[in-house]
Amino acid sequence: LWTVARAELLKAVGKSNFANWIEPLRLVDLSDGIVRFDAPTKFMRDWVMRNFSDHILRELSNLGAAVGRLEIGVPELRPIPAQTLTAPEPAAARIRKTARGDEADLAGAPLDARFTFDSFVVGKPNELAHAAARRVAEGGPVTFNPLFLYGGVGLGKTHLMHAIAHELQARRPELRVLYLSAEQFMYRFVQALRDRQIMDFKEMFRSVDVLMVDDVQFIAGKDSTQDEFFHTFNALVDQRKQIVISADRAPGEIKDLEERIKSRLQCGLVVDVHPTDYELRLGILQTKAEMYRGQYAGLKLADGVLEFLAHRITTNVRVLEGALTRLFAFASLVGREITLDLAQECLVDILRASDRKVTIEEIQRKVAEHYNVRLSDLIGPKRVRTIARPRQIAMYLSKHLTTRSLPEIGRRFGGRDHTTIMHGIRKVEELKGADRQMAEDLDLLRRLLEA
Ligand code: ADP
Ligand code: MG
Repeated sequence: LWTVARAELLKAVGKSNFANWIEPLRLVDLSDGIVRFDAPTKFMRDWVMRNFSDHILRELSNLGAAVGRLEIGVPELRPIPAQTLTAPEPAAARIRKTARGDEADLAGAPLDARFTFDSFVVGKPNELAHAAARRVAEGGPVTFNPLFLYGGVGLGKTHLMHAIAHELQARRPELRVLYLSAEQFMYRFVQALRDRQIMDFKEMFRSVDVLMVDDVQFIAGKDSTQDEFFHTFNALVDQRKQIVISADRAPGEIKDLEERIKSRLQCGLVVDVHPTDYELRLGILQTKAEMYRGQYAGLKLADGVLEFLAHRITTNVRVLEGALTRLFAFASLVGREITLDLAQECLVDILRASDRKVTIEEIQRKVAEHYNVRLSDLIGPKRVRTIARPRQIAMYLSKHLTTRSLPEIGRRFGGRDHTTIMHGIRKVEELKGADRQMAEDLDLLRRLLEA
Protein backbone atom coordinates (compact mmCIF):
# COMPACT_ATOMS: atom_id res chain seq x y z
CA LEU A 1 0.00 0.00 0.00
CA TRP A 2 2.74 2.45 0.94
CA THR A 3 4.54 1.61 -2.28
CA VAL A 4 1.52 2.60 -4.32
CA ALA A 5 0.91 5.65 -2.17
CA ARG A 6 4.50 6.70 -2.74
CA ALA A 7 4.06 6.53 -6.49
CA GLU A 8 1.04 8.80 -6.17
CA LEU A 9 2.85 11.16 -3.86
CA LEU A 10 5.65 11.43 -6.35
CA LYS A 11 3.14 12.78 -8.86
CA ALA A 12 1.53 15.00 -6.27
CA VAL A 13 4.53 16.75 -4.82
CA GLY A 14 7.00 16.56 -7.66
CA LYS A 15 10.26 14.79 -8.05
CA SER A 16 12.47 16.98 -5.95
CA ASN A 17 10.10 17.32 -3.01
CA PHE A 18 9.59 13.62 -3.17
CA ALA A 19 13.27 12.81 -3.14
CA ASN A 20 13.90 15.32 -0.39
CA TRP A 21 11.12 14.60 1.99
CA ILE A 22 9.03 11.54 1.17
CA GLU A 23 11.63 9.08 0.03
CA PRO A 24 13.60 9.15 3.29
CA LEU A 25 10.50 8.30 5.35
CA ARG A 26 10.27 4.73 6.55
CA LEU A 27 6.88 3.25 7.23
CA VAL A 28 6.84 1.77 10.71
CA ASP A 29 3.23 0.98 11.34
CA LEU A 30 -0.31 1.55 10.14
CA SER A 31 -3.00 0.64 12.62
CA ASP A 32 -5.83 2.13 14.65
CA GLY A 33 -6.19 4.90 12.13
CA ILE A 34 -2.66 6.10 12.73
CA VAL A 35 0.19 5.82 10.27
CA ARG A 36 3.67 5.99 11.76
CA PHE A 37 6.92 6.80 10.00
CA ASP A 38 10.50 7.27 10.96
CA ALA A 39 12.41 10.25 9.63
CA PRO A 40 16.17 10.64 9.78
CA THR A 41 16.18 14.01 11.56
CA LYS A 42 13.98 16.17 13.69
CA PHE A 43 14.16 18.88 11.15
CA MET A 44 12.79 16.56 8.48
CA ARG A 45 10.08 15.37 10.77
CA ASP A 46 8.93 18.90 11.42
CA TRP A 47 9.11 19.85 7.80
CA VAL A 48 7.15 16.83 6.61
CA MET A 49 4.56 17.26 9.34
CA ARG A 50 4.07 20.84 8.36
CA ASN A 51 4.14 20.56 4.64
CA PHE A 52 3.28 17.06 3.55
CA SER A 53 1.16 15.40 6.18
CA ASP A 54 -2.04 16.28 4.36
CA HIS A 55 -0.69 14.91 1.11
CA ILE A 56 0.32 11.67 2.72
CA LEU A 57 -2.94 11.16 4.55
CA ARG A 58 -4.89 11.97 1.44
CA GLU A 59 -3.05 9.49 -0.74
CA LEU A 60 -3.36 6.74 1.83
CA SER A 61 -7.08 7.41 2.25
CA ASN A 62 -7.57 7.43 -1.50
CA LEU A 63 -6.13 3.95 -1.56
CA GLY A 64 -8.66 2.82 0.99
CA ALA A 65 -6.59 2.93 4.15
CA ALA A 66 -8.47 4.02 7.24
CA VAL A 67 -6.11 6.64 8.54
CA GLY A 68 -6.79 9.94 10.17
CA ARG A 69 -3.50 10.77 11.79
CA LEU A 70 0.15 10.84 10.95
CA GLU A 71 3.02 10.41 13.39
CA ILE A 72 6.67 10.65 12.64
CA GLY A 73 9.42 9.48 14.95
CA VAL A 74 13.10 10.18 14.78
CA PRO A 75 14.90 6.92 15.55
CA GLU A 76 17.69 8.41 17.64
CA LEU A 77 15.14 9.79 20.02
CA ARG A 78 13.26 6.54 20.51
CA PRO A 79 14.15 3.05 21.57
CA ILE A 80 15.37 1.31 18.43
CA PRO A 81 12.70 -1.01 17.05
CA ALA A 82 13.82 -4.62 16.97
CA GLN A 83 13.78 -5.08 13.22
CA THR A 84 16.16 -2.23 12.52
CA LEU A 85 18.82 -3.80 14.71
CA THR A 86 19.60 -6.10 11.83
CA ALA A 87 19.92 -3.25 9.38
CA PRO A 88 23.56 -2.76 8.45
CA GLU A 89 25.05 0.32 10.06
CA PRO A 90 26.29 1.96 6.85
CA ALA A 91 22.76 2.10 5.49
CA ALA A 92 21.57 4.09 8.45
CA ALA A 93 24.55 6.35 8.22
CA ARG A 94 23.91 6.84 4.56
CA ILE A 95 20.32 7.80 5.10
CA ARG A 96 21.31 10.35 7.69
CA LYS A 97 23.85 11.82 5.41
CA THR A 98 21.43 12.10 2.51
CA ALA A 99 18.90 13.59 4.78
CA ARG A 100 21.26 16.34 5.76
CA GLY A 101 22.16 16.99 2.17
CA ASP A 102 18.51 17.12 1.36
CA GLU A 103 17.77 19.61 4.08
CA ALA A 104 20.24 21.87 2.44
CA ASP A 105 18.59 21.07 -0.84
CA LEU A 106 15.09 22.05 -0.06
CA ALA A 107 15.47 24.49 2.74
CA GLY A 108 18.40 26.11 1.06
CA ALA A 109 20.44 25.70 -2.05
CA PRO A 110 22.64 22.67 -2.63
CA LEU A 111 26.24 23.16 -1.64
CA ASP A 112 29.03 22.63 -4.11
CA ALA A 113 31.18 19.89 -2.65
CA ARG A 114 34.28 21.43 -4.22
CA PHE A 115 33.90 24.74 -2.42
CA THR A 116 35.77 23.98 0.79
CA PHE A 117 38.39 25.79 2.81
CA ASP A 118 40.91 23.23 1.62
CA SER A 119 40.44 24.22 -1.98
CA PHE A 120 40.40 27.94 -1.27
CA VAL A 121 43.69 29.63 -2.03
CA VAL A 122 44.46 32.49 0.32
CA GLY A 123 46.30 35.59 -0.80
CA LYS A 124 46.50 39.23 0.15
CA PRO A 125 43.28 40.25 -1.61
CA ASN A 126 41.13 37.72 0.21
CA GLU A 127 42.95 37.02 3.45
CA LEU A 128 40.63 39.05 5.61
CA ALA A 129 37.52 37.52 4.09
CA HIS A 130 39.03 34.10 4.53
CA ALA A 131 39.94 34.72 8.16
CA ALA A 132 36.48 36.02 8.95
CA ALA A 133 34.85 33.06 7.22
CA ARG A 134 37.07 30.71 9.18
CA ARG A 135 36.03 32.33 12.39
CA VAL A 136 32.36 31.89 11.61
CA ALA A 137 32.98 28.29 10.53
CA GLU A 138 34.36 27.46 13.94
CA GLY A 139 30.80 27.73 15.17
CA GLY A 140 31.80 29.41 18.40
CA PRO A 141 29.89 32.21 20.06
CA VAL A 142 28.83 34.87 17.64
CA THR A 143 31.39 37.66 17.65
CA PHE A 144 30.28 39.76 14.71
CA ASN A 145 26.89 39.76 13.15
CA PRO A 146 26.39 39.75 10.31
CA LEU A 147 29.52 38.89 8.43
CA PHE A 148 29.11 40.84 5.23
CA LEU A 149 31.33 39.77 2.34
CA TYR A 150 31.41 41.89 -0.75
CA GLY A 151 33.38 42.10 -3.95
CA GLY A 152 33.22 41.69 -7.70
CA VAL A 153 32.05 38.67 -9.65
CA GLY A 154 34.02 35.46 -9.42
CA LEU A 155 36.24 36.42 -6.53
CA GLY A 156 35.25 33.59 -4.21
CA LYS A 157 32.37 34.89 -2.11
CA THR A 158 30.11 31.94 -2.83
CA HIS A 159 33.04 29.58 -2.41
CA LEU A 160 33.69 30.96 1.08
CA MET A 161 30.05 30.73 2.07
CA HIS A 162 29.83 27.10 1.01
CA ALA A 163 33.07 26.42 2.82
CA ILE A 164 31.55 27.82 6.00
CA ALA A 165 28.51 25.58 5.57
CA HIS A 166 30.62 22.47 4.94
CA GLU A 167 32.84 23.15 7.89
CA LEU A 168 29.95 23.82 10.24
CA GLN A 169 28.19 20.66 9.14
CA ALA A 170 31.31 18.70 9.93
CA ARG A 171 32.07 20.35 13.25
CA ARG A 172 28.63 21.08 14.60
CA PRO A 173 26.20 18.73 12.88
CA GLU A 174 23.48 19.73 15.32
CA LEU A 175 23.40 23.26 13.98
CA ARG A 176 20.87 24.10 11.33
CA VAL A 177 22.78 25.88 8.64
CA LEU A 178 20.82 27.42 5.85
CA TYR A 179 22.49 28.71 2.72
CA LEU A 180 20.58 30.24 -0.15
CA SER A 181 20.75 33.06 -2.63
CA ALA A 182 18.72 36.21 -2.09
CA GLU A 183 16.87 35.26 -5.24
CA GLN A 184 15.83 31.97 -3.69
CA PHE A 185 14.85 33.77 -0.54
CA MET A 186 12.54 35.93 -2.58
CA TYR A 187 11.21 33.00 -4.54
CA ARG A 188 10.36 31.13 -1.37
CA PHE A 189 8.81 34.17 0.16
CA VAL A 190 6.57 34.78 -2.84
CA GLN A 191 5.66 31.13 -2.93
CA ALA A 192 4.77 31.18 0.75
CA LEU A 193 2.58 34.21 0.22
CA ARG A 194 0.84 32.52 -2.65
CA ASP A 195 0.31 29.28 -0.78
CA ARG A 196 -0.73 31.12 2.36
CA GLN A 197 2.11 29.52 4.26
CA ILE A 198 3.75 32.65 5.42
CA MET A 199 3.78 31.52 9.02
CA ASP A 200 5.65 28.38 8.01
CA PHE A 201 8.05 30.49 6.07
CA LYS A 202 8.72 32.76 9.00
CA GLU A 203 9.05 29.92 11.41
CA MET A 204 11.42 28.02 9.22
CA PHE A 205 13.73 31.00 8.66
CA ARG A 206 13.64 31.94 12.30
CA SER A 207 14.52 28.45 13.42
CA VAL A 208 17.93 28.21 11.77
CA ASP A 209 21.17 28.62 13.67
CA VAL A 210 23.20 30.03 10.82
CA LEU A 211 21.65 31.86 7.89
CA MET A 212 23.67 32.63 4.80
CA VAL A 213 22.20 34.73 2.03
CA ASP A 214 24.24 35.09 -1.14
CA ASP A 215 24.06 38.04 -3.54
CA VAL A 216 21.79 40.11 -1.36
CA GLN A 217 21.88 43.00 -3.84
CA PHE A 218 19.24 41.03 -5.70
CA ILE A 219 16.48 42.00 -3.29
CA ALA A 220 17.17 45.72 -3.57
CA GLY A 221 14.05 47.39 -4.84
CA LYS A 222 11.88 44.34 -4.12
CA ASP A 223 10.01 45.94 -1.29
CA SER A 224 8.01 43.23 0.41
CA THR A 225 10.91 40.79 0.15
CA GLN A 226 13.25 43.37 1.66
CA ASP A 227 10.82 43.85 4.45
CA GLU A 228 10.60 40.17 5.20
CA PHE A 229 14.35 39.85 4.99
CA PHE A 230 14.73 42.67 7.47
CA HIS A 231 12.41 40.98 9.95
CA THR A 232 14.08 37.61 9.55
CA PHE A 233 17.43 39.26 9.98
CA ASN A 234 16.41 41.05 13.17
CA ALA A 235 14.77 38.01 14.66
CA LEU A 236 17.93 35.98 14.15
CA VAL A 237 20.24 38.66 15.43
CA ASP A 238 18.09 38.96 18.53
CA GLN A 239 18.49 35.25 19.09
CA ARG A 240 22.23 35.64 18.62
CA LYS A 241 22.22 33.44 15.54
CA GLN A 242 24.97 33.93 13.03
CA ILE A 243 24.19 35.56 9.71
CA VAL A 244 26.48 35.68 6.70
CA ILE A 245 25.64 37.88 3.74
CA SER A 246 27.34 38.48 0.43
CA ALA A 247 26.84 41.15 -2.17
CA ASP A 248 28.63 42.57 -5.16
CA ARG A 249 29.23 45.87 -3.38
CA ALA A 250 29.33 47.42 0.08
CA PRO A 251 26.03 47.80 1.96
CA GLY A 252 26.02 51.56 1.56
CA GLU A 253 26.48 51.23 -2.19
CA ILE A 254 23.50 49.03 -2.87
CA LYS A 255 20.92 51.14 -4.62
CA ASP A 256 17.28 50.81 -3.63
CA LEU A 257 18.07 49.04 -0.43
CA GLU A 258 16.24 50.49 2.53
CA GLU A 259 18.35 52.60 4.84
CA ARG A 260 17.42 50.57 7.89
CA ILE A 261 18.67 47.41 6.15
CA LYS A 262 21.87 49.07 5.07
CA SER A 263 22.61 50.19 8.55
CA ARG A 264 21.87 46.77 10.01
CA LEU A 265 24.12 45.14 7.44
CA GLN A 266 26.88 47.47 8.47
CA CYS A 267 26.58 46.56 12.12
CA GLY A 268 28.72 43.49 11.95
CA LEU A 269 31.93 42.92 10.10
CA VAL A 270 32.03 44.21 6.54
CA VAL A 271 34.82 42.63 4.55
CA ASP A 272 35.91 43.46 1.06
CA VAL A 273 37.07 40.62 -1.21
CA HIS A 274 39.50 42.50 -3.40
CA PRO A 275 40.24 41.75 -7.03
CA THR A 276 42.94 39.12 -7.38
CA ASP A 277 46.57 40.03 -7.72
CA TYR A 278 49.14 38.16 -9.75
CA GLU A 279 50.36 36.03 -6.82
CA LEU A 280 46.90 34.87 -5.92
CA ARG A 281 46.03 34.04 -9.50
CA LEU A 282 49.19 32.04 -9.86
CA GLY A 283 48.49 30.27 -6.58
CA ILE A 284 45.01 29.31 -7.73
CA LEU A 285 46.32 28.08 -11.07
CA GLN A 286 49.02 26.00 -9.40
CA THR A 287 46.53 24.40 -7.06
CA LYS A 288 44.17 23.61 -9.91
CA ALA A 289 46.94 22.35 -12.17
CA GLU A 290 48.07 20.01 -9.43
CA MET A 291 44.60 18.58 -9.31
CA TYR A 292 44.43 18.18 -13.07
CA ARG A 293 47.79 16.49 -13.19
CA GLY A 294 46.25 13.75 -11.11
CA GLN A 295 43.23 13.61 -13.36
CA TYR A 296 45.04 13.66 -16.69
CA ALA A 297 48.00 11.48 -15.86
CA GLY A 298 50.95 11.81 -18.21
CA LEU A 299 50.06 15.27 -19.42
CA LYS A 300 53.01 17.61 -19.50
CA LEU A 301 52.82 21.22 -18.50
CA ALA A 302 55.62 23.44 -19.76
CA ASP A 303 57.23 26.07 -17.56
CA GLY A 304 55.81 29.52 -17.79
CA VAL A 305 52.31 28.60 -18.92
CA LEU A 306 50.68 29.23 -15.57
CA GLU A 307 52.61 32.46 -15.16
CA PHE A 308 51.45 33.54 -18.58
CA LEU A 309 47.81 32.87 -17.71
CA ALA A 310 48.08 34.58 -14.32
CA HIS A 311 49.52 37.56 -16.05
CA ARG A 312 47.03 37.75 -18.87
CA ILE A 313 43.69 36.71 -17.40
CA THR A 314 42.98 39.24 -14.73
CA THR A 315 39.21 39.54 -14.79
CA ASN A 316 38.03 36.91 -12.39
CA VAL A 317 38.78 33.52 -10.97
CA ARG A 318 35.95 31.81 -12.76
CA VAL A 319 37.39 32.75 -16.13
CA LEU A 320 40.84 31.78 -14.97
CA GLU A 321 39.66 28.36 -13.90
CA GLY A 322 37.69 27.93 -17.09
CA ALA A 323 40.79 28.64 -19.12
CA LEU A 324 42.82 26.04 -17.29
CA THR A 325 40.08 23.46 -17.52
CA ARG A 326 39.81 23.94 -21.22
CA LEU A 327 43.55 23.85 -21.66
CA PHE A 328 43.93 20.51 -19.93
CA ALA A 329 40.97 18.99 -21.73
CA PHE A 330 42.23 20.20 -25.08
CA ALA A 331 45.81 19.03 -24.50
CA SER A 332 44.66 15.61 -23.44
CA LEU A 333 42.40 15.30 -26.48
CA VAL A 334 45.07 16.16 -28.96
CA GLY A 335 47.75 14.42 -26.91
CA ARG A 336 50.11 17.37 -26.78
CA GLU A 337 52.17 18.97 -24.09
CA ILE A 338 50.70 22.15 -22.62
CA THR A 339 52.97 24.87 -23.93
CA LEU A 340 52.63 28.61 -24.36
CA ASP A 341 51.80 28.07 -28.01
CA LEU A 342 49.09 25.60 -27.21
CA ALA A 343 47.67 27.96 -24.59
CA GLN A 344 47.57 30.84 -27.03
CA GLU A 345 45.96 28.71 -29.68
CA CYS A 346 43.36 27.12 -27.47
CA LEU A 347 42.47 30.17 -25.39
CA VAL A 348 42.47 32.76 -28.11
CA ASP A 349 38.96 33.98 -27.33
CA ILE A 350 39.51 34.24 -23.59
CA LEU A 351 42.80 36.02 -24.05
CA ARG A 352 41.27 38.42 -26.49
CA ALA A 353 38.33 39.09 -24.19
CA SER A 354 40.56 39.86 -21.26
CA ASP A 355 42.52 42.26 -23.43
CA ARG A 356 39.28 44.02 -24.05
CA LYS A 357 39.37 47.60 -22.93
CA VAL A 358 36.55 49.37 -21.22
CA THR A 359 34.60 51.53 -23.64
CA ILE A 360 33.37 55.06 -23.11
CA GLU A 361 29.81 53.85 -23.68
CA GLU A 362 30.13 51.37 -20.84
CA ILE A 363 31.50 54.04 -18.57
CA GLN A 364 28.64 56.35 -19.39
CA ARG A 365 26.11 53.63 -18.84
CA LYS A 366 27.53 52.58 -15.47
CA VAL A 367 27.91 56.13 -14.23
CA ALA A 368 24.37 57.02 -15.26
CA GLU A 369 23.09 53.93 -13.51
CA HIS A 370 25.12 54.62 -10.40
CA TYR A 371 23.92 58.20 -10.01
CA ASN A 372 20.46 57.44 -11.20
CA VAL A 373 20.51 59.90 -14.07
CA ARG A 374 19.44 59.32 -17.65
CA LEU A 375 22.07 58.39 -20.13
CA SER A 376 20.72 61.06 -22.49
CA ASP A 377 21.07 63.68 -19.74
CA LEU A 378 24.56 62.53 -18.92
CA ILE A 379 25.61 63.15 -22.49
CA GLY A 380 23.28 66.05 -23.12
CA PRO A 381 23.60 69.77 -22.34
CA LYS A 382 21.97 70.09 -18.89
CA ARG A 383 24.13 71.92 -16.39
CA VAL A 384 22.48 71.18 -13.05
CA ARG A 385 24.93 69.82 -10.51
CA THR A 386 23.16 66.49 -10.11
CA ILE A 387 23.90 65.77 -13.75
CA ALA A 388 27.04 67.80 -14.35
CA ARG A 389 28.96 66.07 -11.57
CA PRO A 390 28.30 62.52 -12.76
CA ARG A 391 29.16 63.72 -16.26
CA GLN A 392 32.53 64.95 -15.05
CA ILE A 393 33.12 61.66 -13.32
CA ALA A 394 32.34 59.80 -16.52
CA MET A 395 34.84 62.05 -18.33
CA TYR A 396 37.46 61.38 -15.71
CA LEU A 397 36.94 57.62 -15.94
CA SER A 398 37.01 57.74 -19.72
CA LYS A 399 40.38 59.41 -19.54
CA HIS A 400 41.77 56.92 -17.06
CA LEU A 401 40.26 53.65 -18.21
CA THR A 402 40.48 54.02 -21.96
CA THR A 403 43.19 55.11 -24.35
CA ARG A 404 40.95 57.66 -26.04
CA SER A 405 42.22 61.19 -26.56
CA LEU A 406 40.44 64.22 -25.13
CA PRO A 407 38.89 65.26 -28.46
CA GLU A 408 37.64 61.72 -28.94
CA ILE A 409 36.13 61.71 -25.48
CA GLY A 410 34.57 65.09 -26.25
CA ARG A 411 32.90 63.65 -29.31
CA ARG A 412 31.33 60.86 -27.27
CA PHE A 413 30.03 63.39 -24.80
CA GLY A 414 27.68 65.07 -27.19
CA GLY A 415 30.37 66.83 -29.22
CA ARG A 416 31.97 68.77 -26.40
CA ASP A 417 35.20 70.62 -26.85
CA HIS A 418 38.37 69.00 -25.51
CA THR A 419 38.89 71.90 -23.10
CA THR A 420 35.50 71.16 -21.55
CA ILE A 421 36.58 67.58 -21.06
CA MET A 422 39.85 68.70 -19.52
CA HIS A 423 38.01 71.02 -17.19
CA GLY A 424 35.71 68.18 -16.09
CA ILE A 425 38.62 65.87 -15.41
CA ARG A 426 40.45 68.57 -13.42
CA LYS A 427 37.37 69.20 -11.36
CA VAL A 428 37.16 65.55 -10.36
CA GLU A 429 40.85 65.42 -9.57
CA GLU A 430 40.44 68.47 -7.39
CA LEU A 431 37.41 67.14 -5.54
CA LYS A 432 38.36 63.56 -4.96
CA GLY A 433 41.08 64.45 -2.47
CA ALA A 434 38.66 66.18 -0.14
CA ASP A 435 35.39 64.44 -0.91
CA ARG A 436 35.45 60.97 0.56
CA GLN A 437 32.17 60.00 -1.00
CA MET A 438 33.44 60.94 -4.41
CA ALA A 439 36.64 58.97 -3.90
CA GLU A 440 34.62 55.93 -2.90
CA ASP A 441 32.31 56.33 -5.87
CA LEU A 442 35.26 56.47 -8.21
CA ASP A 443 36.79 53.41 -6.66
CA LEU A 444 33.55 51.48 -6.93
CA LEU A 445 32.88 52.51 -10.51
CA ARG A 446 36.37 51.63 -11.52
CA ARG A 447 35.97 48.19 -10.04
CA LEU A 448 32.60 47.62 -11.61
CA LEU A 449 33.97 48.63 -14.97
CA GLU A 450 37.09 46.57 -14.74
CA ALA A 451 35.39 43.47 -13.36
P1 ADP B 1 31.66 34.92 -6.42
O1 ADP B 1 30.62 34.26 -5.58
O2 ADP B 1 32.47 35.90 -5.65
O3 ADP B 1 31.13 35.48 -7.68
P2 ADP B 1 32.67 32.24 -6.63
O4 ADP B 1 32.79 31.91 -5.20
O5 ADP B 1 31.52 31.66 -7.35
O6 ADP B 1 32.70 33.81 -6.85
O7 ADP B 1 34.03 31.84 -7.35
C1 ADP B 1 34.13 31.61 -8.75
C2 ADP B 1 35.03 30.45 -9.00
O8 ADP B 1 36.35 30.77 -8.64
C3 ADP B 1 34.66 29.22 -8.18
O9 ADP B 1 34.84 28.07 -8.95
C4 ADP B 1 35.64 29.25 -7.02
O10 ADP B 1 35.93 27.97 -6.56
C5 ADP B 1 36.84 29.89 -7.65
N1 ADP B 1 37.63 30.68 -6.70
C6 ADP B 1 37.47 31.97 -6.39
N2 ADP B 1 38.39 32.38 -5.49
C7 ADP B 1 39.15 31.30 -5.23
C8 ADP B 1 40.27 31.07 -4.36
N3 ADP B 1 40.80 32.04 -3.61
N4 ADP B 1 40.81 29.83 -4.35
C9 ADP B 1 40.29 28.85 -5.13
N5 ADP B 1 39.25 29.00 -5.95
C10 ADP B 1 38.67 30.21 -6.01
MG1 MG C 1 28.58 34.14 -5.95
